[in-house]
Amino acid sequence: MGCLEKGFVVWLTGLPGSGKSTIGKRLVERLRMMGLKVEYLDGDLVRPWLSPEAGFTREDRTRHLTRVAFVSHLLARNGVAVVAAFVSPYRDVRRRARELIGDFIEVYVKCPLEVCMERDPKGLYRRALAGEIKHMTGLDDPYEEPLNPEVVVDTSVMDVDTCVDKIVSYLRGAGYIDG
Ligand code: ADP
Repeated sequence: MGCLEKGFVVWLTGLPGSGKSTIGKRLVERLRMMGLKVEYLDGDLVRPWLSPEAGFTREDRTRHLTRVAFVSHLLARNGVAVVAAFVSPYRDVRRRARELIGDFIEVYVKCPLEVCMERDPKGLYRRALAGEIKHMTGLDDPYEEPLNPEVVVDTSVMDVDTCVDKIVSYLRGAGYIDG
């Protein structure tokens, strides 16, 4: 006899360098340790497969994230805990992902632009300032802050584990995980 757990999607949104991947990977480890089936979707890993043709215009980002939302929806409805880490700068596409998925936990990975620029883990800000790349979120492309996220973690003042603890507490409180 099978037992289907209720799936859900933790959607991490924030500026490049805010800490989405770092927190997402740590959250995945924690959820797996609890025995959940987990899938991690990360912008850098997923884009070449789902949207190899896409650039970073608003239209391209929206099309790409709509695909990501659909895949997340398929996984979540089959009992998988999905952790999705995407800049996802536009409110509109995040709202549509929420509507499609239902069990959608929006986590705003908040961090001042100056701190993200200082961290610059992938060298993207440096390349954007050198004029090598366009549509850099935070510089020449907008980031629309979430208005009503389920969780906010401020990575300029909280360490990684504290951020993950806050998300796990939310999932417990909302009945997605036990204990
Ligand atoms: P993103 O996925 O949002 O582009 P990354 O996770 O790749 O960002 O990079 C974030 C950088 O910030 C990493 O070098 C990470 O070690 C550092 N960092 C410092 N404090 C935190 C924190 N509290 N949460 C997440 N990352 C942090």
